[in-house]
Amino acid sequence: MAERYTFGLLGYPLQHSLSPLIHSTALQVLGFQGEYRLFPVEDKQDLPALLNKLRSGELQGLNVTIPHKRQVLEFLDVLTHTAQGIGAVNTIYSQGHRLVGENTDAGGFIADLKRLGWIPGESHPSRALILGAGGAARAVAYALYQRDWHLVIASRNLTQGQNLVASLTNRDRRKDEYGTVAAIQLDRVSLSNLKHPLDLVINATPLGMSPLEAASPWPADLPLPTGAAVYDLVYNPVDTVFTKRARDAGLQAANGIGMLVEQAALSFEIWTGIRPPRAEMHSALAIYQRGMR
Ligand code: NAP
Repeated sequence: MAERYTFGLLGYPLQHSLSPLIHSTALQVLGFQGEYRLFPVEDKQDLPALLNKLRSGELQGLNVTIPHKRQVLEFLDVLTHTAQGIGAVNTIYSQGHRLVGENTDAGGFIADLKRLGWIPGESHPSRALILGAGGAARAVAYALYQRDWHLVIASRNLTQGQNLVASLTNRDRRKDEYGTVAAIQLDRVSLSNLKHPLDLVINATPLGMSPLEAASPWPADLPLPTGAAVYDLVYNPVDTVFTKRARDAGLQAANGIGMLVEQAALSFEIWTGIRPPRAEMHSALAIYQRGMR
């Protein structure tokens, strides 16, 4: 165990990040010395200098966010199986001066679904619709596909969705071990043509996030799928147009704050080897969010 931890977040822009609050709560509750710093790095060419601080032991852990989750791959020595499968990294640590890239967004998403009680029993063939096909969608799709969910990925750029489907189905396990996965256009016609009942609809686009608060990924004149729960990865604002509409339609809805805490908890555990105080981390963010409403 280090005497003092220095963790940080690498990305750009970072001024609204909640990660310092989540991690400093964990450090404080555990009575650890340390801090979680923001490293706003815009230019890819500045990444090696910061990564060297991790290699040298000056930093004990880094999170990575937009725009570097994929760009950082070429500077790392090893990728975990999950990071390789997703093709993106949100957590880096040093192991014997080698930089290891991991992705805790996938595990964080599943941990939050479990916390919400939204993971059905093994015998239930679950079906999810993912809106968007960017970095977060890749992590969520990977996590659900690994658990044999049937997936539909809807993206405004169909090729991006098709590439995500290809990267999931090109894995080294037999196809019949998995659920099915298909790509469709993110538009009213394609969404209204969906045939199977859905268990979960996930927004993995920035629509609804500040400054796009008035926007929703779901067409205003299309009814939401009955019986589905809605998970919006957006957490700022606390209630998006999409989650509000889902609740008004009598559906269960959650924002992405739980996933944010759970992915942070998994990173913290990787860096320290200690299980962090998840309940206190969730409470710290809940208190912060009450102030935002
Ligand atoms: P990203 O890599 O930029 O991907 C965004 C996706 O949304 C892309 O498919 C993009 O399509 C699509 N998109 C963007 N604007 C759109 C629009 N106007 N209409 C339709 N589709 C649109 O971003 P990301 O990292 O995946 O993040 C997506 C969202 O998830 C963000 O709001 C982020 O804050 C949130 N997130 C939350 C957590 C959490 O822990 N809760 C973790 C990660 C991300 P194009 O490529 O065509 O632009």
